[in-house]
Amino acid sequence: MSSLALPAAARTLGLAFSGLRSLWQRWFLWALLAVLVFALLVTVVWLAGRHEVSQVQATLDRDTADAVADLRSGLQRNAQNLRATQAGAPSREHWLDQAAALLREHREWLRIEWRDAALAPVGAADTPYRRSMFDPPSRGADQSDIALACTAARKLGSLAYSPSHYVSLAQGNGLEVMELCLPIDAGGYLVATYSLRDLLVELVAPTLSRGQEVAFTEADGTRLVAIGVPRRVGTRVFTSQQLVDLPGATLMLRVDGWRAAPDLFPNLLTALVTAISIALVSVLVLLARDTRMRLRAEGHLADALAFRKAMEDSVITGLRARDLMGRITYVNPAFCEMVGFSVDELMRSGGEAPYWPTELAHEYQQRQAMRLAGGVPPREGFESVFMRKDGSRFPVLIFEAPLRNAQRAQTGWMSAFIDISEQRRIEELSRASQERLQASARLATVGEMASLLSHELTQPLAAIASYASGSLNLLEGSGHDEVAMAVRRIAEQADRAGQVIRSVHDFVRRRDRTREAVAPQVLLDAVLPLVGLQARKLGVAIEVVLDDGLPRVVCDRTLVEQVLLNLARNAMQAMDMPELVDRVLRLRVARARAIGTAAAAPDARRWLEFSVADLGSGISDEVAARLFTPFFTTRSDGMGLGLSLCRTVVEQHGGALMFEPNRPRGTVFRFTLPIA
Ligand code: ADP
Repeated sequence: MSSLALPAAARTLGLAFSGLRSLWQRWFLWALLAVLVFALLVTVVWLAGRHEVSQVQATLDRDTADAVADLRSGLQRNAQNLRATQAGAPSREHWLDQAAALLREHREWLRIEWRDAALAPVGAADTPYRRSMFDPPSRGADQSDIALACTAARKLGSLAYSPSHYVSLAQGNGLEVMELCLPIDAGGYLVATYSLRDLLVELVAPTLSRGQEVAFTEADGTRLVAIGVPRRVGTRVFTSQQLVDLPGATLMLRVDGWRAAPDLFPNLLTALVTAISIALVSVLVLLARDTRMRLRAEGHLADALAFRKAMEDSVITGLRARDLMGRITYVNPAFCEMVGFSVDELMRSGGEAPYWPTELAHEYQQRQAMRLAGGVPPREGFESVFMRKDGSRFPVLIFEAPLRNAQRAQTGWMSAFIDISEQRRIEELSRASQERLQASARLATVGEMASLLSHELTQPLAAIASYASGSLNLLEGSGHDEVAMAVRRIAEQADRAGQVIRSVHDFVRRRDRTREAVAPQVLLDAVLPLVGLQARKLGVAIEVVLDDGLPRVVCDRTLVEQVLLNLARNAMQAMDMPELVDRVLRLRVARARAIGTAAAAPDARRWLEFSVADLGSGISDEVAARLFTPFFTTRSDGMGLGLSLCRTVVEQHGGALMFEPNRPRGTVFRFTLPIA
């Protein structure tokens, strides 16, 4: 790789790299945003779920605590009711009645006993809701649970409970029970046996066991009794435990609640958050799509702008936009180049443009005011003069059109300028050359006239000379010396006149030396602008037919051009009739056919034939007879020299000029010129 190519390659690589980097950056940002939004969503959903779980747990804990409080006060009330049976030292029978009444009210009790101070039974009543399950012998003073509870009660001076224990029944059934021992003032105890299951059913709020399981357990978690609904499959378990600390016994109240899976949409809050999240993601997606579309549109716009810029920079027409106040809002490079001012200078100029010639500024100001007032400019444009920065003036062709925005409201004027100074210069040149051609035509005419006159005068002069010499011979020796002298002078003067005429003739003929080889196309090109001018005036169409591969001809350019011009002019004048509709002038150059004239006869291949055909009036026999006679004309302003001069010129070149009727009407003039 050469040392020059290295930086270029590095630059290309650098460009590609920076393009890649910006692309990567954009995608990285989008990916980061998506990840963040996703993380946010997951966190919010998770938090909402956790909140829900903790709500449920808190409610359960509160309910359990309430249940424990209910249980305590229930037990308290029961103990008071029990104590009330001993009020007023009742007889055994009376107490039994009261105990039976109490048992009917409290389903949680299985049995109430009255025992003396030595724990020997005084009286006992069983619940009416069950078959009696305690046989009296087993309920003696030595029953350990009761003894324990009562000892504790006596020690405390208040009630005490025994730890729970299992009482087995027939057929393998059994009950978990707990004894309450209440010392009475008269000495002795009241012992009540609680069924733990019924305790749960009666004293723990019935609402708590709805939809969840309520149980008593030991401190180590061993389940004693349980009520409520067992756990359903597919649910989540919430557990709450509360200690029920009773004097002499300790129980745990355990509540197992379950809720149908609060996993993804636990409640309204989570649903709301999810909905917002979905909306957020949708907005994100829409935003991404919008960004993509915007990027694409931006790309198209940039392309269009680049295209427009290239177009504006490449045109040679000057472009300028003005707002409705007449201030310049835009110019293209071609305009700046045309007037020589920079874009800044033009934009900074106020109402009066710097390219207005000072002497015309007032007039331009009026024109601008008219345009701003709503005056419509001519469609075909108008001409004006501008001034370059260096002060030189130049003509311009201006086209103006209203400038409209996307809402079709006019916001100013758009103008296009064409510098027509070059066009003017060419027109000037062609006018000058036309004048020169006409002048040389006139000179040629004069020369030909002189040549004609000299030709016409040589015969009379020769006659004068011969008459003079005849007269001199007759006068010889007659003694009329003076007359002879005069006649000699006449002969001398005639001779001198002959010499003058010959020298004039020679001068005119000197043009012969200016012959050159010219392409027929060049001859036609020289006369067509002039012919065109007159053709436009008379409404004549010009048709030029040039065969392929024509050789050049040897001729005096100016004179042959004159011949062509003359014939074309005659032809167009012949078509200048008001009633004539199709006016066509046909100029044709071709190789000559073998034609009857002496000049063309020997070898037709050495000649080119030029023909000028019209669709005009044609030539009558009477006119035809005198057509080439000098000074014959049918026009009031004609001189009658044109055709005779043409024939002279053509014949001087060795060619021939002839004419014949054209079809469907008019005349064809043909002449031949030698090939180089
Ligand atoms: P001028 O044009 O001055 O009249 P010309 O010698 O050129 O002199 O023409 C002589 C006359 O020949 C014209 O006045 C015209 O009547 C007649 N003539 C020449 N060319 C044509 C033509 N193409 N068709 C009809 N008549 C013609």
